[in-house]
Amino acid sequence: MKTLKIAIQKSGRLNEKSVELLKNCGLNFENYKSSLISPVSNFPLEILFLRDDDIPEYVQDGIADLGIVGENVIQETEVEVSYLQRLGFGKCSLKIAVPNNSDINTLADLNGKAIATTYPAILGKFLKEQNITSDIRTISGSVEISPGLGLSDAICDLVSTGGTLKSNGLKPFADVMSSEAVLIGSKEIAESDLVQELIQRVQSVLRAKE
Ligand code: ATP
Ligand code: ZN
Repeated sequence: MKTLKIAIQKSGRLNEKSVELLKNCGLNFENYKSSLISPVSNFPLEILFLRDDDIPEYVQDGIADLGIVGENVIQETEVEVSYLQRLGFGKCSLKIAVPNNSDINTLADLNGKAIATTYPAILGKFLKEQNITSDIRTISGSVEISPGLGLSDAICDLVSTGGTLKSNGLKPFADVMSSEAVLIGSKEIAESDLVQELIQRVQSVLRAKE
């Protein structure tokens, strides 16, 4: 029988819940922090520990058959994968935020303004749908400090509690997308018996939590 591969985040906000979900599915594996691959002893499955940004492409390209990753990362990488199951953790929203004292009050006020983000594809699509032309400044992290440094007029970033925005003198202004962790699969594999078996286990774990 073919051994499936599932990619999960190696460390970060989704790691612990992803490992817990797989363990609750009855899968036995060592959660070695140092190794990239862990075999599952009681199911034909290997677990790949990766940076979340790499997961959608690995699944699209068939290097991994399955993956657990935030919807925000899937949308941003614009890959072709099957959504198999929403997982109910890793919930957050991608929001546009502005400084507390900003004169940006409506979406139209964003015209001609600079918006810093690590999500240029999602933001670009959103602005286009709203007929707004802004200067999207793609940066790789610490987006929330960019207005204070004079690098942007607004930001577009992931928010869960809003604490990071607040402590940087920013207020949420518009919702771009809401996101949670999802189980994805490559187009070819989604129908296979093994994958169906895993999805059923995941669904019963989620039902037991309700
Ligand atoms: P990696 O090292 O794997 O690239 P990362 O730093 O890009 O990790 P994390 O900060 O661990 O990513 O976030 C992983 C995912 O957790 C996000 O893509 C998002 O789906 C989800 N998430 C939930 N709440 C938040 C939040 N407040 N801020 C950022 N991401 C969040
Ligand atoms: Zn990442």
